[in-house]
Amino acid sequence: MSRASNELREEILYWCRESVRTGLNFNTQGNISIRLPEHEAIVITPSGIRYDVLTIDQMVVVGYDGVVIEGDLFPSTETDVHLAHYRRRPDVNAIVHTESPWANMFGAVGKTIDPVLLNMVLYAKGAVRIMPFEFSTNTDFGELSAALMGDDTNAVVWGNHGMISVGEDVAGAFKVAVAVEANAQVLHGALALGTPNILQLENIVIPEGARLP
Ligand SMILES: [Zn+2]
Repeated sequence: MSRASNELREEILYWCRESVRTGLNFNTQGNISIRLPEHEAIVITPSGIRYDVLTIDQMVVVGYDGVVIEGDLFPSTETDVHLAHYRRRPDVNAIVHTESPWANMFGAVGKTIDPVLLNMVLYAKGAVRIMPFEFSTNTDFGELSAALMGDDTNAVVWGNHGMISVGEDVAGAFKVAVAVEANAQVLHGALALGTPNILQLENIVIPEGARLP
């Protein structure tokens, strides 16, 4: 029996397809993984397969040491980067990498994405930093990315490439990716119109019993 249940595999597939449907990725861009703590491993999308033809049995299980345990295909080229993020953040159980255009605009000019939308502060937890361009397929890159994200925010943008977001589960990590992309789009327009009001999580009073969006 596989270390990764069909349910987890289905979940990855669902969010891969959502990432294309919502404009966060196209073609074979991006990748998604979920932690399998009981096996000291992760399950991750394979490299180079279009999401519309991807099947759940093509997901790859990779140990924390980077060795493939299950799967016939190569795991995502950014597997070592995911593993570095999991090592740094025990609270993280899922990672989503996207290459969405609005976040990438800020990445292309190296400009931090400041929060101007409520969802951005609730899910990304603060400003999203930009990592200067570098090739993204090794552990050193992953450790730099994880360090730049830090322990208190949930996303970082890789300059001239894309975004990585983390969460307690894959739905949560995806919410972060959506929030950052929407925020980047609004911030871009807001900067053209005037001086945006930048939000900070610590300054937001959440009413007692309020349900979050
Ligand atoms: Zn990428």
